Amino acid sequence: MKERVVVVGGGIIGTMHALLACEAGFEVLHLERDLKPTSASVRNFGLVWVSGRDVGPELRLALRARALWGAIGGKAEIGFRPNGSLTIASNEAEMNVLYEAANMDDAHLRGFRVLTAAETRDLEPMLAGNYLGALQCTEDAAVEPPILLGGLRNYLSTFSTYSWKPGCEITDFYHDSTGNHVVDTSGKDYSTDYVAFCAGAAHGGFLSEEMSDAAVRKVRLQMAATVPMKEKLSHSLADGDSLRYYPAFKNLSIDTLPRQSGIAAERYMQLLLVQRSDGSMTIGDTHEYDEPFDHELSEAPYDHLRSVITSIFGSEAPPLGKRWDGVYSQSTSSDIYFRKEIAPGAVIVTGAGGRGNTLSPGIAEETIASWSK
Ligand SMILES: Cc1cc2nc3c(=O)[nH]c(=O)nc-3n(C[C@H](O)[C@H](O)[C@H](O)COP(=O)(O)OP(=O)(O)OC[C@H]3O[C@@H](n4cnc5c(N)ncnc54)[C@H](O)[C@@H]3O)c2cc1C
Repeated sequence: MKERVVVVGGGIIGTMHALLACEAGFEVLHLERDLKPTSASVRNFGLVWVSGRDVGPELRLALRARALWGAIGGKAEIGFRPNGSLTIASNEAEMNVLYEAANMDDAHLRGFRVLTAAETRDLEPMLAGNYLGALQCTEDAAVEPPILLGGLRNYLSTFSTYSWKPGCEITDFYHDSTGNHVVDTSGKDYSTDYVAFCAGAAHGGFLSEEMSDAAVRKVRLQMAATVPMKEKLSHSLADGDSLRYYPAFKNLSIDTLPRQSGIAAERYMQLLLVQRSDGSMTIGDTHEYDEPFDHELSEAPYDHLRSVITSIFGSEAPPLGKRWDGVYSQSTSSDIYFRKEIAPGAVIVTGAGGRGNTLSPGIAEETIASWSK
């Protein structure tokens, strides 16, 4: 008989666990409390962002995950594309950091190359604005969040060993001599050999005791999408403010960067931008760390993002078509993400923060490997 796995959580971390477990030959029951997942995994940029990952183990995990994304993108309709990214420098200090980045020991693994403004425009004619150059990262990629999880589940449905059960909230867990058990709101008991709790930022509920001393926090982001554009932008974009936040650059001359403008500093902002298949552009983001979070979407961050886009595009930024926010769980320790075994074969996996989409197949592979020993 095949060994059984229950995956709790239908976000990208849970879905990648389900996928890699099916491919490894396990029988998988995949449970999600909502009728369809509505959390971080469908609210994000869909970036597979290798460029910003920290030197060492984090980059190694990101590169492994990037390779897995490429393979999965060949099997499932998820809009995977190895489009690469451009980090735009708008002043000399940022440009200097880009040159330093392109000279890092692992720059070749990230596919880093500095482009002049003219070379950047040749590559992306839409970027006709006022800037000095860009850092190209050929390893960065993107997927389409609106179809991602459904596309992965369509692929999973080709396995007779996969079952998907939405609208199923797990409220209890126990381990006894017969193995691991999860229990849903109706009292139904699911017996299993292995269980992965991939509940994202749901740190409370029946997991609250296990999570009470966990080094994780919640982070809220504000996002938006422009109306669809006819012009095409193939690369994903970041502005120079992103150099302050991504750990890849932490040992470079980022202390020489000019002070961020008011709202950008206040909300820990950077511009990230990726064009969706319908021509709209997903843009963001802000970062809010203090709970309880505000429930409102304030306008000032969007005005700032649009002014940065106007400057890079050299023409008025397209109007916004929709706005939303999202919350992710982030490890606050030096661990790349949070993993805790709460019983033999039962593990909580969360806390990958703003790199959760990027790392998800690599994280899932680590869990499945621990079960296959
Ligand atoms: C705005 C935003 C932008 C981001 N951009 C990027 C990006 O471009 N690239 C990147 O790498 N990362 C990005 N991230 C981070 C990434 O989206 C997250 O790290 C990742 O989606 C987390 O996935 P998850 O499956 O752990 O959590 P979630 O997506 O939150 O999924 C958890 C699921 O578990 C379910 N669940 C919870 N409790 C239970 C229960 N008791 N029973 C059953 N089901 C339960 C929830 O309903 C939910 O569907 C972004 C995040 C946000 C918020």
